[in-house]
Amino acid sequence: MKSFSIASLPLVISLTTSCTHSPADSPSISPVPRNKPPKYHTTSPKIPLSVRKHWIHQANTLALFPYPCPFAAFGTVIVNHTLDNPQGTLICTGANQNSLAGNPTLHGEMAAINNCSSIFVSSAYNMTPAESLAAFKDLSLYTNAESCPMCAAAVRWAGFREYVYGVSIKELIELGWGQLDIGSEEVIGSGVGMRDQDPEVVLGGVGSEESKVLFGWQFAGGDCPSGCERGERSDGCLPVELE
Ligand SMILES: [Zn+2]
Repeated sequence: MKSFSIASLPLVISLTTSCTHSPADSPSISPVPRNKPPKYHTTSPKIPLSVRKHWIHQANTLALFPYPCPFAAFGTVIVNHTLDNPQGTLICTGANQNSLAGNPTLHGEMAAINNCSSIFVSSAYNMTPAESLAAFKDLSLYTNAESCPMCAAAVRWAGFREYVYGVSIKELIELGWGQLDIGSEEVIGSGVGMRDQDPEVVLGGVGSEESKVLFGWQFAGGDCPSGCERGERSDGCLPVELE
């Protein structure tokens, strides 16, 4: 796997301190200014939409492996577009593992970020923890559905360079999915005094028509994903070979 150019990565980490002051200690505390309002690029002329859709397709493919119609087919791929590769270089992936791991925090984005951190400090990259933290500044996160507030917060804390999603939270709600109805861009843009900048690029609705098929059958009665069908024993979609 191609390595990062470590030399180009700033390695200084600002430690966020949490101090408690009484009013007597700090009689003239001023509100901490919010980070500058995000001025996201909602288009990215340097990277064609076809490339963006390719990575969303990869997130979908990942979410459907090895089972073609999992209930929670949320997938994420993390890509480096700063290397000499027009298509981008895949760094790590993650799929929703709530049921598999019994861990409610392992949404696709969280799983992918954890996987990236693991490989960065492994022998594959040999990064120090500080280098691992700094490496996220060069990376783009693609998720086939908009990040929930937990994952959006993780995206912002990681300091990703780009954040790209497919189906929106509003669309998931319309399809019957329970969601925390707070847009990811609102979460990402709400940072105050944080060390990294907001992402340079935030794109939503990329490849959403393809991704919607993965989320439209559970509650909304949509067609099953390819390779699955509604059987006599279940209202849900099951792999054809299991029927
Ligand atoms: Zn999430």
